[in-house]
Amino acid sequence: MTTVIVGAGHGGVQVAASLRAEGHLGPVVLVDGQEDFPYHRPQLSKEFLGPGAGAAQPLRSRSFFTDQEIDLRLGTAAVALHPAERCLEFSDGRTIGYTHLVLALGSTVRNLQVPGVGLDGVARLATLTDAARVRKRLATARHVVLVGGGFLGLEIAAACVGAGRAVTLVEPQDRVLTRAVAPAVSDAVQRAHTQAGTVLRLGTGVERFVGRNGRIQAVILADGSEIPADLVVVAVGALANSGLAERAGLAVDNGVLVDPWLRTSDPAIFAVGDCASHPDRERAVARRVECVQNALDQARHVASTITRGIGEPYDKVPWFWTHQFDLRVQTVGLGFADDVCVVLGEPDEASFSVCRFHHDRLVAVESVNRPQDHIAARRLLSRRLPPDLPEVGSAGFDLKSHELSTRGAA
Ligand SMILES: Cc1cc2nc3c(=O)[nH]c(=O)nc-3n(C[C@H](O)[C@H](O)[C@H](O)COP(=O)(O)OP(=O)(O)OC[C@H]3O[C@@H](n4cnc5c(N)ncnc54)[C@H](O)[C@@H]3O)c2cc1C
Repeated sequence: MTTVIVGAGHGGVQVAASLRAEGHLGPVVLVDGQEDFPYHRPQLSKEFLGPGAGAAQPLRSRSFFTDQEIDLRLGTAAVALHPAERCLEFSDGRTIGYTHLVLALGSTVRNLQVPGVGLDGVARLATLTDAARVRKRLATARHVVLVGGGFLGLEIAAACVGAGRAVTLVEPQDRVLTRAVAPAVSDAVQRAHTQAGTVLRLGTGVERFVGRNGRIQAVILADGSEIPADLVVVAVGALANSGLAERAGLAVDNGVLVDPWLRTSDPAIFAVGDCASHPDRERAVARRVECVQNALDQARHVASTITRGIGEPYDKVPWFWTHQFDLRVQTVGLGFADDVCVVLGEPDEASFSVCRFHHDRLVAVESVNRPQDHIAARRLLSRRLPPDLPEVGSAGFDLKSHELSTRGAA
């Protein structure tokens, strides 16, 4: 009963830990192509970049892997998978057979295809090595340009502003976080950045990077303007690491396709976290979610299935947080562009929540400095007892009071 897990990030390490917690007695082999000891990723775009920040925080202690008899093999990339033989090939030429295989391969930063992207000082930030490089460069940089107004680009911008640098963020859409949150939340984030000193260049993209002696000097935008830069970080989204699965003939579509039990098109192989494309619980589509909670919850579910057999389908509501300046943004559920939105609270005072409805059904809540709303919404959505659109739109409606009043009704 050998279980092999490919990817020792948030999802893979949790699968290994949960297998042991569930009482799985067979060998557990956890491999990762990176040499670094498994570490927390969220801090890399936040406090890790700040002055005086220390080393990356490990996901588990070294003794944890030894004590739990988890065979952790770092610097070992899986290069080929043979489902019919239940066999995996590694970069060092070795092979391993498995009873169950879990793909926890994560995602990779999308490339920006513009001239000059290879200049020294044009960076990306996905791994600890990337973050250490950006931190080093930031120590001497004066002008930093972030390309991409998603969570990652905004967090790095906030860290760079905090370090006293002149920061410009370029986003081709007319607002930041377009795909992730409702316009009211984007507005609040934009206001906080502008007040802190980030220059936002919205509605225009990067045309090219220019440099001297191979080093970045400026960013030329599509509208012809030029921004001085001695450090550029490109954060334009991520793609699932699904090549290994695809080459093996597993079903792939914007990630490794999994069923409601997180099994791939081969039932001996599971996929979790950023690389997995899972059926959305509210709509008939497959969705890929990039956040730590999703990777951890899916990992726990797979470990339980491997140890105890098929049980309930995976049904957790995804949630996420980001902290920039004085804003704490928390989201639960997944919104779509055509959702109907109701705002609760005070957007002008940066204390509000946006409730998103699909066919009058609450599917997501995005909160700005309203942790009590976030917690209440998580409970309501998890219990599948969300208020409907007329209720939320009624005078004096409050998520926390509503959640308290519905306890015991599930
Ligand atoms: C800078 C940064 C900041 C973030 N901030 C937040 C945040 O604030 N909140 C939040 O919820 N999420 C955040 N995220 C996203 C979060 O880190 C991911 O959603 C989470 O790590 C997903 O876990 P995972 O196990 O799917 O993938 P990962 O944790 O990325 O792990 C995947 C691992 O697979 C390995 N791998 C890939 N292919 C192979 C192969 N062929 N062979 C062997 N190993 C392989 C990789 O080396 C990697 O270590 C952030 C991500 C980054 C990069």
